[in-house]
Amino acid sequence: MAKKLKVGFDLDGVILYNPLRTLRPVASFFKFIKPVLFHEKANAFYFPNSPLEKSVWKLLHKTSFRVADGVTDIKTLAQQGVIEPYIITARYSFLKDDFYYWIKRLNNQPYFRYYHYNKDDIQPNAFKEKMISELKLDVFVEDNWGVIQRLNNSVPKTKIFWISNSLDWHIPYHYKFSSLEEAILYLSKHP
Ligand SMILES: [Mg+2]
Repeated sequence: MAKKLKVGFDLDGVILYNPLRTLRPVASFFKFIKPVLFHEKANAFYFPNSPLEKSVWKLLHKTSFRVADGVTDIKTLAQQGVIEPYIITARYSFLKDDFYYWIKRLNNQPYFRYYHYNKDDIQPNAFKEKMISELKLDVFVEDNWGVIQRLNNSVPKTKIFWISNSLDWHIPYHYKFSSLEEAILYLSKHP
């Protein structure tokens, strides 16, 4: 039998359906506006510091309000021994409660044996890179195009799958999918 594929999944926009699909425009906006408002160095990664910023950030994550349709298919592939699924999210430590709320809902049967969030609040991309290389993932499924470009350079041995969206769909990319279901279907055909 072929070796089990180690497949990592991002949480927001991948495992959890998010009608905004990606927080990229919002995050870019914060990144842009914050140094302007607070006279900080540009290029520092955005971390919500004040209670107000934290509330806004939490509220933005509430837009991930339901489990995406393909999750049942992940469970089937895991049961068949085709994949070993992991959840890796760069969510910061103050989103811990919401993270565990979803893990509990997703994992009423332990399909996802491994799940990690960014509890030390390091730079979000660096966190994903670190986890992907430490776990030696064969595939990582992500929804944010900016993150995908970066991961393709920093973890070249891992295939990065992209759950795209209508605004970014014109961008050519080999592993581009319109939904989690479609990505899982591809995985089941190309184990
Ligand atoms: Mg995401």
